[in-house]
Amino acid sequence: MTQAREIPAAPPQQLEEQLQGRGWHLRFPEPLESEFQRHYSETYQQDTTLAMLFGLIATLACGVGDWLWLRDRFYAMWSVRVLAALPLLILYILAQRQDYRSRLQELLAIDAACGCVGVETFAAMAPPPISHFYEGGILLVILLIFVLARQQFRYGLISAGLIAFICQPFILLEPSSLLSIYARELILGLGLLLCLPGNFLIERSIRQSYLQLRLLSLQNREVEEANRQLQYLTAIDGLTLIANRRALDSTLSTEWTRAQRKQLPLSLLMIDVDHFKRYNDAFGHPAGDSCLRNIAEALRSHVRRPGDLAARYGGEEFAVVLSGANENDALLVAENIRMEILALSIPHPESSHGHVTVSIGCASLIPDRNNSTELLYERADQALYRSKRSGRNRVMVWRPEL
Ligand code: GH3
Ligand code: MG
Ligand code: MG
Repeated sequence: MTQAREIPAAPPQQLEEQLQGRGWHLRFPEPLESEFQRHYSETYQQDTTLAMLFGLIATLACGVGDWLWLRDRFYAMWSVRVLAALPLLILYILAQRQDYRSRLQELLAIDAACGCVGVETFAAMAPPPISHFYEGGILLVILLIFVLARQQFRYGLISAGLIAFICQPFILLEPSSLLSIYARELILGLGLLLCLPGNFLIERSIRQSYLQLRLLSLQNREVEEANRQLQYLTAIDGLTLIANRRALDSTLSTEWTRAQRKQLPLSLLMIDVDHFKRYNDAFGHPAGDSCLRNIAEALRSHVRRPGDLAARYGGEEFAVVLSGANENDALLVAENIRMEILALSIPHPESSHGHVTVSIGCASLIPDRNNSTELLYERADQALYRSKRSGRNRVMVWRPEL
């Protein structure tokens, strides 16, 4: 399988420069030109193949004229028609293929040449005035190539050259009056001369639209990135880099609704660092900050299930949301957190354990219409208060008698 070549994206300044330039040069600097060519073949592949199909159908459909006007040479005409349609059919099939997508412009030029040979052969085989009718087919070829297929200008020049060249022997060698030669050359020349500038302007405006489209999508991407960054900043605590109070409230409310709908338990842990004021007093605020970061990291490692969240509630207090967790599950997590923080062995000379510890309050309930997230906060807070009162470095669960 062939690997698609990765083209580096053009920088926005380059797009701006090209857009402002609006010159007469139909070529972007690399890698923009390669990007444009890929875009062009993807966007206009359908129009190109449609133009080819029209050419093929027109070649066969004009055979009705053979039946109406040239019944004496009908079979000869149709033999030539089938011969002329064959390369058009092959080119049409090739143009549909993915591996020929980058060769569409060349295929189109060959298609123009084949169509032109066909038209001129039919015209040469038909007697006047029918031959004049068939000669008009050249204009159809020009329109299909330049207008419907929107062939790129430099390939348009090649097609125009091929058409003009192929027509010459048919026009000049046919025994007809000088006036007829002039008339045919004039129609051919005018057809090409009028279509080529149009072809140039079409490609120029396609290039301009492409640049505008690219710039717009780059700007959209920047806005999306800024939004993502903003969302991140509004949900993250600047010191500990875990969720902040706003994200905690929002998650708790979402999980509350989910738990209420599914009638599942929801648990909340309130975690407070013991004697943290003294820690600050002993080691200073920067050391206190670093201690809070270590505790946050330990909390994060215990909260991995979707719907669960560890957050900084404020100051030296943290909270953990455990969705779908009943009291026993929550107690287990709380106990693990307490032990892990003790195991961090952060020295605390003012603590009776010699290390930094936390007290945890735990509350669980199955949400219903008669209660709210405030109730969960309240209960977890009461349990935390109880755990402080009972000597710290412990987990207490809320009970009605509290
Ligand atoms: P208790 O065991 O009863 O919770 O005692 P405590 O000293 O931890 O509680 P208290 O509420 O008296 O003090 C909390 C301390 O936490 C006071 C404050 O300086 C400190 N603190 C709050 N936020 C921060 C912070 O962001 N960084 C640092 N270094 N200290 C903080
Ligand atoms: Mg506190
Ligand atoms: Mg405290």
